[in-house]
Amino acid sequence: MDAKIRLYVEHPLGAGQSVPLDRGQAHYLFGVMRQAIGGQVLLLNGQDGEWRARITEAGKRGGMLSCDEQTKPLQMPPDLWLCFAPIKKARTDFIVEKATEMGAARIVPMQTEFTNSGRIQRDRLQAHAVEAAEQCGGTYVPQVSEMIRFDRLLHDWDPDRQIMFCDEALAASGVAHGLEGTGPWAIFIGPEGGFSDVERKRLHGLAHATAVSLGPRILRADTAAVAAMTIWQQTLGDWT
Ligand code: SAM
Repeated sequence: MDAKIRLYVEHPLGAGQSVPLDRGQAHYLFGVMRQAIGGQVLLLNGQDGEWRARITEAGKRGGMLSCDEQTKPLQMPPDLWLCFAPIKKARTDFIVEKATEMGAARIVPMQTEFTNSGRIQRDRLQAHAVEAAEQCGGTYVPQVSEMIRFDRLLHDWDPDRQIMFCDEALAASGVAHGLEGTGPWAIFIGPEGGFSDVERKRLHGLAHATAVSLGPRILRADTAAVAAMTIWQQTLGDWT
């Protein structure tokens, strides 16, 4: 029988490796998905690829799996960060989910001058990234960072990491993308209110930032994140 359920675990995976389940995972596997001893599950931990495992113990409060064989090696995404200003809760969840599916290596919530929300629940967003990796067949889970202020982020920035600055002010001008070069990158997406003049000036002044247009219309921040990742992945990433 083919294993269909994919489960993220925080445990090493390898041939013959036993993997304990916590209460929540046991509830999901045995209560919700009606699995029993002998059932097969695909496991990922973000480091050891994907493994087919058998259920060897099943209980209400926990359980045990045993790894049989590796079904996929670890597939790292390109070294692309998505730096975005959090918006409303459901739309922020959407951005994290889509960034994971589309192959971001790291997700960085940043507080800009016009950011709507001053706080995020990092653990909740990280759980969204885990769920997205489970359902999209990925073997890597991007880390969701704590929220960081825009100026702090740029202060500590490694200039080897190029920035694809999605600048809404270029929407009308039809400016070409001009994305080129290998190495690490980050996409910058502003909040509903856009980047402030000071922030735009700062980004335009950076030699390692390329300002791009995402077309002639102003996109919502969540749409802009998906559009920017599509363009970057197709131009420089692992979709080519
Ligand atoms: N309130 C802003 C305005 O009216 O100009 C719009 C901000 S937009 C909702 C949120 C973010 O998405 C922007 O800061 C930018 O990073 C990105 N964005 C949206 N549409 C864009 C476009 N056509 N070109 C480049 N970036 C865009």
